[in-house]
Amino acid sequence: MIVEQIWTGNAYRNFNYLIACPETGEALAIDPLDHKKCLARAKDRGWTITQILNTHEHGDHTGGNGPMIDATGAKLLAHAGAKNRIAGIDRGLKAGDVIKVGKTVELECLDTPGHTMSHVCLLSHTDQPALFCGDTLFNAGAGNCHSGGHPVELYNTFATQLAKLPEATLVYPGHDYIANNLRFTLDREPDNARAKELLRQMDKQDPAKAMVSTLELEKEINTFFRLMSPSVIKRLREAFPDLPDKPDPKTVFLKLRELRNSW
Ligand SMILES: [Zn+2]
Ligand SMILES: [Zn+2]
Repeated sequence: MIVEQIWTGNAYRNFNYLIACPETGEALAIDPLDHKKCLARAKDRGWTITQILNTHEHGDHTGGNGPMIDATGAKLLAHAGAKNRIAGIDRGLKAGDVIKVGKTVELECLDTPGHTMSHVCLLSHTDQPALFCGDTLFNAGAGNCHSGGHPVELYNTFATQLAKLPEATLVYPGHDYIANNLRFTLDREPDNARAKELLRQMDKQDPAKAMVSTLELEKEINTFFRLMSPSVIKRLREAFPDLPDKPDPKTVFLKLRELRNSW
């Protein structure tokens, strides 16, 4: 499996992806908003884009579908529940479905509601797994829920699916928000040394050559995985004095999501 992360350089800071089979050169494009950059990269690599996957229905993820399909004739894949929100879906996906790319690549579909209620993430069947997580999980952050999502569902997705993936899983999100998200982590947990150090590096990062994090790193620097951290809880109590002595992880997640909305 070969992964190309494509930095759009747009105001929304989208990342697009191409995933290719090294044997056949067939490729899947994830959320190819910048269809010109995606097509140019595929051409440069000698790849043929045969499938397009939308992680969810938002325009900054689906906006490239039309021109991409016109240029390649690729099939469009998205969550089965997005049928009324994304035009022209050829294959509706549900949890556990496997998407094949060429001869060698298999991507498993995870049903990951929260940012929207018809959001999929893809998990590669490779020695070191890779997660293509759209707007569900970001580097050092979590998706918002104010355009068709639900915070409780987002918590369930984090707790019952994402947190249980192997620690070595590579994380490929739909946007470059890492520097801002690390500032939120440090606002919530000022003594997080690893987040502090990473922010120093990320402030200088070229998103066209972005660092790819792992789930192990996310669990250290992403507040939304640090729900039992004493310093996160202590600081949260300053904003929510009624917080119980030992708040459950769900309560902490929901309060953090609420704070992040107005941060
Ligand atoms: Zn979105
Ligand atoms: Zn987005």
